[in-house]
Amino acid sequence: MTAKPIIITLDGWSSCGKSTLAKALAKELGYVFVDSGAMYRAVTLYLLRNDIDIANEQQVQQALTKIELGFVFNPARGASDILLNGENVESLIREMKVAEQVSKVATLSAVRKFAVQQQQRLGAAKGIVMDGRDIGTVVFPQAELKIFMTADRETRVRRRYLELAATDPGISEEAVRENLARRDYMDANREESPLRQAPDAKVLDNTNLSPEEQFKIALLWAREAIG
Ligand code: C5P
Repeated sequence: MTAKPIIITLDGWSSCGKSTLAKALAKELGYVFVDSGAMYRAVTLYLLRNDIDIANEQQVQQALTKIELGFVFNPARGASDILLNGENVESLIREMKVAEQVSKVATLSAVRKFAVQQQQRLGAAKGIVMDGRDIGTVVFPQAELKIFMTADRETRVRRRYLELAATDPGISEEAVRENLARRDYMDANREESPLRQAPDAKVLDNTNLSPEEQFKIALLWAREAIG
């Protein structure tokens, strides 16, 4: 008998390697990987490009009706790139100007509703690994395996800085530190769906773990949950 597919959620602080782990798990299990943060980032890019006043709920609602998100598999990355109205914006959404606004945009109720609906649709058939902030608490509270990832902030700053500096030599470590601190604060303190560890989540602190070590731990948990 083949094992029934399950839902695996990975939530946690910004830049603690959630997507890297989610991608590796999905590949190993033959599951779909969805980076929910990319969806909030793509919405943010659209709002920025179109000069939408995010304090104006009506303008935001109206803008959301014009946004279509999609995914296309990118063999070079071994993961899906996000499409914003058909345009591949995977690298544009990683830029600092999006990072600076995304957590604010992610506090908006209409935006969360828009993203959560699509995320639930993507997971309807299970066999999915999704990473984000509220995936185990709000999007799939019934998920069979929930992982909550954390790492100390300086470790996360260093990792994100090195990643961004590879494509943007002008970036400063201080700017990355400030951005992470602000996003951590906003994610944990927003009114709707704040970042919380689900009571039944398994905690993975990867401050002192290599990607291979954390992968082994998570894969063991996944195999246990799949049964
Ligand atoms: O995961 P990533 O850092 O790319 O996500 C970008 C931002 O989107 C986060 O800082 C957070 O504010 C928001 N987010 C969210 N809920 C999710 C995923 C991301 O609020 N499920």
